Amino acid sequence: HDGTPDRITRDEASAALLQRARDVTPGGVNSPVRAFRGVGGTPRFIASAKGPWLTDVDGNRYVDLICSWGPMILGHAHPDVLAAVQEAATRGFSFGTPSENEVALAEEIVSRVEPIEQVRLVNSGTEATMSALRLARGATGRSSVVKFAGCYHGHVDPLLASAGSGLATFALPDSAGVPASAAHETIVLPYNDIAAVEAAFAEHGDEIACVITEASPGNMGVVPPAPGFTAALRRITREHGALLISDEVMTGFRCSAAGWYGLEGEPEGGAPDLFTFGKVMGGGFPAAAFGGSAELMGNLAPDGPVYQAGTLSGNPVATAAGLATLRGCTPEVYDRIGTVAHAIADGASAALSQHGVPHTIQWAGSMFSVFFTGGAVRNYDDAKTQDTAAFGRFFHAMLDQGVHLPPSSFEAWFVSASHDDAAVEHVLQALPAAAAAAA
Ligand code: PLP
Repeated sequence: HDGTPDRITRDEASAALLQRARDVTPGGVNSPVRAFRGVGGTPRFIASAKGPWLTDVDGNRYVDLICSWGPMILGHAHPDVLAAVQEAATRGFSFGTPSENEVALAEEIVSRVEPIEQVRLVNSGTEATMSALRLARGATGRSSVVKFAGCYHGHVDPLLASAGSGLATFALPDSAGVPASAAHETIVLPYNDIAAVEAAFAEHGDEIACVITEASPGNMGVVPPAPGFTAALRRITREHGALLISDEVMTGFRCSAAGWYGLEGEPEGGAPDLFTFGKVMGGGFPAAAFGGSAELMGNLAPDGPVYQAGTLSGNPVATAAGLATLRGCTPEVYDRIGTVAHAIADGASAALSQHGVPHTIQWAGSMFSVFFTGGAVRNYDDAKTQDTAAFGRFFHAMLDQGVHLPPSSFEAWFVSASHDDAAVEHVLQALPAAAAAAA
């Protein structure tokens, strides 16, 4: 045995399930990226997961570098989270009334992210950004929104928009079914480009309700804000009476105990007005939130005129999972995910360099991406210079050796504190063959 992980040869049960799924679900999946369209091949249907390992329906095991796209920071089926979920579930699944865990989860978030005085709990990151947008529009009485190309904020109509031809022109729908009127109120700008933001505000400043940005983008791959960029957003929005929404759905409670905000600190000129969270704060269950000052949040129903609601919002089982996860995010957890991430990133870089594959690794705290392109990636246009075919070969060689990467080169690789030395070693041993396949 040469130390290379055994090859995975069976995917019959996944293929059969995909066949069944396609009959009853569009594309056979409930979220498009799961279909492997970018990389080809058969998506693996996972039967169970424990710690850093996924087991598929064919019995193959994979080290998981998706971690459910971020939530599983403690690893799968963590005993403390499992116990909290079981305990909560024995007391009932959903009440449709207030319950104590909702208060405790809100307190946990408010205590971590200093500028936030109040949060409202919702069920998904999409709901969080959609609601934050409505609140920003309601509070300012304006309707236009600035977003950045390559930032993803969920499938919210006005946020599924692409840049028009000019920098400061209004956008076009990025999906069928998004009305031109919804996209028309969105201005899409290149990320990390302060001049473009200045120009958009110079032209449309009195119509813009808010700028929404990923705190440190992860959805075009990891592209941290250039020094001063977030501060410039704060300054420009203030000058024009617009709000700044920091979307921490991905970075929240992952980059640090207080998310990207905790890592970067308060931008010069003050904190963002609104924050959105999801992923880690639900511990793998549907829980998300948006929050800000008590004054701003007071615009929400029942006290204010901005309507927002949810049958399952603040669900007792989801909030139990979120609480146990946040409470489990000790300094040791952040240390461990940093160590694991650096070991894997270093290994990937060494293997890709050895085989002459151009690549760039970028970081936001311990969140990282391996871009299959040379040179710094500062925005979506840079990210799009990647060799996606090379990534596809790399991805499948990793998968064949029992490592499940995100099936797209425009993603962060997620690790958990449960990634022990054996899991890391398994990844490191798979990398050379994958880099050779990519070359
Ligand atoms: N905002 C960001 C930054 C995200 O990364 C995501 C999801 O990946 C969302 C919003 C949408 O969250 P959800 O998929 O829970 O609706």
